Amino acid sequence: MDKNTIIIGGGIGGLCSGIRLLSKGYHVTLLEKNKQIGGKINILKDNNFKFDLTASIIMTPKIYTDIFKDVGKNYEDYFKIHKLDPIYKVFYDDKTFYNFYSDTNKMINELENLQKGLSTNFFNFLSKSYEKYFISKDKILNQPMINLKEIINFSFIKSMGKINPLSSTNNYLNKLICNEKLKNYLIFTSMFIGVNPYTNSNIYTLIPTISHLYGLWYIEGGLYEYIKALEKLFIDMGGKIITNCEVKNILIENNQVKGVKTKYKVLSGDLIICNVDYPFAIKNLINDESLDNKYGKNNLKNIDYSCSVFILYLGLDKIYHNLNVHNIYISKDFKNSIEGPFRGYIPSDPSLYIYYPSAIDKSFKVNNHSSMNIMIRVPNLSFNNINYNNNQIKVLKKYIFNTLKNINGLESIESHVIYENYLTPLDLRDKYNLYYGNAFGISHKISQSAYFRPHLKSKKVKGLYFIGSSTHPGNGASVVIDGSKVLCDIIENNKK
Ligand SMILES: Cc1cc2nc3c(=O)[nH]c(=O)nc-3n(C[C@H](O)[C@H](O)[C@H](O)COP(=O)(O)OP(=O)(O)OC[C@H]3O[C@@H](n4cnc5c(N)ncnc54)[C@H](O)[C@@H]3O)c2cc1C
Repeated sequence: MDKNTIIIGGGIGGLCSGIRLLSKGYHVTLLEKNKQIGGKINILKDNNFKFDLTASIIMTPKIYTDIFKDVGKNYEDYFKIHKLDPIYKVFYDDKTFYNFYSDTNKMINELENLQKGLSTNFFNFLSKSYEKYFISKDKILNQPMINLKEIINFSFIKSMGKINPLSSTNNYLNKLICNEKLKNYLIFTSMFIGVNPYTNSNIYTLIPTISHLYGLWYIEGGLYEYIKALEKLFIDMGGKIITNCEVKNILIENNQVKGVKTKYKVLSGDLIICNVDYPFAIKNLINDESLDNKYGKNNLKNIDYSCSVFILYLGLDKIYHNLNVHNIYISKDFKNSIEGPFRGYIPSDPSLYIYYPSAIDKSFKVNNHSSMNIMIRVPNLSFNNINYNNNQIKVLKKYIFNTLKNINGLESIESHVIYENYLTPLDLRDKYNLYYGNAFGISHKISQSAYFRPHLKSKKVKGLYFIGSSTHPGNGASVVIDGSKVLCDIIENNKK
């Protein structure tokens, strides 16, 4: 009786949870609001150009392949993945640039070019941060975090002492890295989780750390090919996907899920897994009396949300041979460019992440044309001083094009643009139901992490579970894929 499962939302969290439950014999139906699944990991195809919509960086490749192995499949039958090295090309405002590698020898050479002796500095940082990653994975990320006892015990407290999560990323790096350019690169990449690195925990330096130690990887055809692979796996395993199907309510009776209500019908289910962004689900899909206190409807305003993004998609009439797949531009007023989005303003001299899959992937190069995404962080919609209207878009584009001119080889890029599109926080809010248009879930500050993050399992309602960027273990494709494993273990243990 407890095997009829409804998944609300076809983001990576919903798809992976469904696949794992299908492998255990559950009947799974996934309902997705949009006509295309994938959620934030999506694709934009227009005018012969193709763009990965948001996410592009693949860390910890084993997590992407393990889910196939876990359910008895060979990932090579579904997608092709290979390693990228250099992992980033980093441009600075003084027109210098460096390639940063996963390969140890190449990284040593590049760092020694940057500053004599810097490589020992860097590898000391890597080893310290890797220990933090290891501990976090073991003690937090791979744990259910649904019981206070998981964090109130000697072993956990001792581990947290080793991690020392309280000092900020900036303070932590100040102590370890003696070169400003390297430090800013590490700050920029630690910020991928969407929190302010000048005030938030240094724990997220694990992002550049694992990028260097495990490498960055690329899926042929772009990241949406992974969603297509998961969709195929889901269907191969007997799951059912219904798109254009927005859930309006989760039906609950006597603290037990009964099903969901869509615009057109009621579907009954014994288990509901909600992959909708947690705060949106709390506000719109569930009655207040069924909610846990900390994250009830009245507390939504007190939650801290991650920043949002503005992405400019450019279709270009040429190929830029001086770019890698992943490129970063560190602006002159770097601290201001990083802090602005968290303080409610858009910096006029932004630091940029430039994704250029056309550097290696022929599916992004048609007729010698190429596709480029330029992403800047912007305040989320809880800051109501910014209106993402046409005027604001013009301003954002001006900032971006002015900044691109500082990059060698891109000085005249504006004259090579033959297609243009963009994504704002409003798109994230309206298309994917992301609360305040947040890009990376509720923020990962300490009081909203681990046991203190929204739980995978409802405390009050039997049969109700959650997965996604705003729940434990947190944001990031690989984190959510791994989270689906923790979630399915909780569901299976609950049956016993
Ligand atoms: C700009 C940006 C860049 C990123 N870059 C990276 C990166 O490089 N690497 C990385 O690992 N991660 C990256 N991430 C994070 C990564 O995209 C997410 O962690 C990951 O996609 C997790 O998504 P999710 O499972 O939370 O679901 P979501 O993607 O939020 O999907 C939820 C789904 O639910 C659907 N839905 C909502 N409401 C309803 C409803 N009522 N009924 C039915 N369906 C509904 C939505 O349409 C959506 O499809 C990035 C994110 C953003 C926004």
